[in-house]
Amino acid sequence: MKNNSTALTTRKKDDLILVTGAGGFIGGSLVRYFHNQGFTNIRAVDKKPLPMWYQRIPDVESLSLDLSYRENCKRAAEGASEVYNLAADMGGMGFIEHFRVECLRSILINTHMIEAAYWAGVDHYFYSSSACAYNTNLQKDPNVRALKESDAYPAMAERGYGWEKLVSEMFCQEYWAERHFRTAIARFHNVYGPNGTWDGGREKAPAALSRKVIEAVEKKDHNITIWGDGSQTRSFMFIDDCVKGIDMIMHSDDLIATPINLGTSELISVDNLVSMVEDIAGVKLERHYDLDAPRGVAGRNSDNTFIKQTLDWEPNTPLRTGMEKTYNWIKQQFTDRKAGKPTPAGYHNN
Ligand code: NAD
Repeated sequence: MKNNSTALTTRKKDDLILVTGAGGFIGGSLVRYFHNQGFTNIRAVDKKPLPMWYQRIPDVESLSLDLSYRENCKRAAEGASEVYNLAADMGGMGFIEHFRVECLRSILINTHMIEAAYWAGVDHYFYSSSACAYNTNLQKDPNVRALKESDAYPAMAERGYGWEKLVSEMFCQEYWAERHFRTAIARFHNVYGPNGTWDGGREKAPAALSRKVIEAVEKKDHNITIWGDGSQTRSFMFIDDCVKGIDMIMHSDDLIATPINLGTSELISVDNLVSMVEDIAGVKLERHYDLDAPRGVAGRNSDNTFIKQTLDWEPNTPLRTGMEKTYNWIKQQFTDRKAGKPTPAGYHNN
């Protein structure tokens, strides 16, 4: 068995960074973030064909590989110094409630990726977990108590998606405990921003509501359908905070193999989020509530005590600021698509 415990060296700008899920929202944004930081040796991998990636960054080695296969993980990890595993078959509530098997099958990605990274001699390994790993019994009231890291156990994670996250977290913890392979684990709370899914069935609330408002304005049909009764509460983290947080968590010696919340603690109801988007768009719509639609837990918020304590930082972009940027980006995508320009959203291959 090899030993990765000598890995705690300072990284160099030409160390090879592997980002998986790089054709998706957060992975693509992380590649851009590292590129902007001056890292010159980045490998981006996603199973989607390259033209379907949200972001393609010049000078970045971009590969289309399905990482649920062991051989592809070995190929991807070759020579890498850091691995950021953001590949997963996932989406908003509509997707994770209807496709639990697909969500569970993402276990293959992390299982093969972490093993390949270990044998490739990777120094740091990052896993993107989720607030869906938390015990759902603690999320039955819209006026939730914010979730702290210890609330994942005793476990009663979100069916399918949440359990996959919890088990993959455990892989990361045991690779460190048993094999001294340095891992980092962040539990993301609803991430939103430009360059993410905004239609096709995998989109999350901020993007879905923005698109619905844009469509209503476009069609001059001043109605909007909201999933659930509008009382569900969530916190939403802007993408710039997410990528900065990933970098900080990965390189903190206090957070090795230690799951940590990465989210904001600015709680908002779906109804108030609709009002915010209406305000950005300058319209008022008539609301219809679809009580049979997937709605997820009643309420969920991030307790940021631990991240403030360890990193002296927490995600802090005001929701209104991030939503304006997101709305404007989706509006542009909508306009481009209408004009017949190719837009990557809505790709599926399962
Ligand atoms: P995304 O769907 O935009 O990106 C995930 C990417 O992984 C996709 O491009 C997809 O094609 C790719 N992928 C799926 N299966 C693959 C495979 N077998 N091989 C290679 N690539 C594969 O999602 P995202 O929002 O960017 O999420 C990234 C990570 O963060 C995921 O692990 C997700 O579970 C986690 N997360 C996201 C949020 C959020 O709000 N967006 C919240 C909690 C956790």
